[in-house]
Amino acid sequence: MDMRKNRLFQRVFALLLCGLTLPPLAGCGAGKTAAQTRTVFAMDTVMTLTAHGKNADAALESAESELYRLDALLARGVEGSAVYRLNHDGFVRDGDVSYLLFRAQRISEATGGAFDVTVAPLLELWGFGSGAGEHRVPTEAEIAAALEHVGMERVHREGDTGATLDLPAQVDLGGIAKGYAAWNVCKLLSGAGVTGAVLDLGGDVALLGSKPDGSDWRVAIKDPNGGDFLGILGVSDAFVMTSGVYERYFEENSSFYHHIIDPKTGYPADSGLMSATVICGDGVWADALATAVCVMGAERALALRGALDVGFDLILVTGDGRVLYTCEDFTPGTGNGYVYEQVS
Ligand code: AMP
Ligand code: MG
Repeated sequence: MDMRKNRLFQRVFALLLCGLTLPPLAGCGAGKTAAQTRTVFAMDTVMTLTAHGKNADAALESAESELYRLDALLARGVEGSAVYRLNHDGFVRDGDVSYLLFRAQRISEATGGAFDVTVAPLLELWGFGSGAGEHRVPTEAEIAAALEHVGMERVHREGDTGATLDLPAQVDLGGIAKGYAAWNVCKLLSGAGVTGAVLDLGGDVALLGSKPDGSDWRVAIKDPNGGDFLGILGVSDAFVMTSGVYERYFEENSSFYHHIIDPKTGYPADSGLMSATVICGDGVWADALATAVCVMGAERALALRGALDVGFDLILVTGDGRVLYTCEDFTPGTGNGYVYEQVS
């Protein structure tokens, strides 16, 4: 699948997801609880926001502004963005970036370095960077040189609003930005009186509250091999974030290279996982963990579940066609060739 087809697939998936989540919401009745929907293009993603409850329309308007604000702030390739300034000046004063770097540091520690926002120089080498760089397989010497500048110890937080970076290290918040955006939007919506919402950020989903009838939302989980969907998850008040090696990739000499980089080796992660879905009450953890789990692999990810003070569930797809899931309310798809296994 090339990038364009992949985008198309993501859009089709977004529609599929809406198809599964919206009818019950849209059917919630007229008047105060009627569902409101808005489509936003931010973070290179078509996003669909649906909310019901008091002030839903006005709240969605603010949500849209917040998504644009964060997009402009966190985009590494946009001249003048806070992340751009950090990467060029080695210093930035910005509360959101400072907070995200603080969270990224904690997540990096918790995942044994699998999540590391300083992988930016490696992303550039492989052509998954901020510019229109060519995809190519770098030489071992290039990878070794880039690895010299990778590591969270190069990032320093200065008070609550500042951050410094040991240049030429570079930061990329692509593995955490959507989760943070979804988390912020959920806080904003609930503060405005919205009692239930589904935010579909291109297949990453946030569920605020439950359906108007009090039951759980039903979310279709993406099939990394392009099939309809892996299964249906019943969930409320949670973030369902998926990372997959199929999202951005290229092929060279019959080998497959993707955009989730193992910060230890400098090469695309080779953990045996095709995709990782993380279900968590915290949007930042959910997003970052989904990326980290693709690096860590199934065994380490499942072990982390017991070790972390943050609760989360996993749906993992292995390269050999197994689906390992820890969630209670997950209905596996049928006839798609996967072997499903509930694990703890
Ligand atoms: P996601 O789609 O949330 O898995 O994020 C993938 C993006 O995260 C990539 O496009 C990179 O911008 C960034 N990234 C890649 N590898 C890592 C890593 N090991 N740790 C943190 N961010 C990463
Ligand atoms: Mg992520």
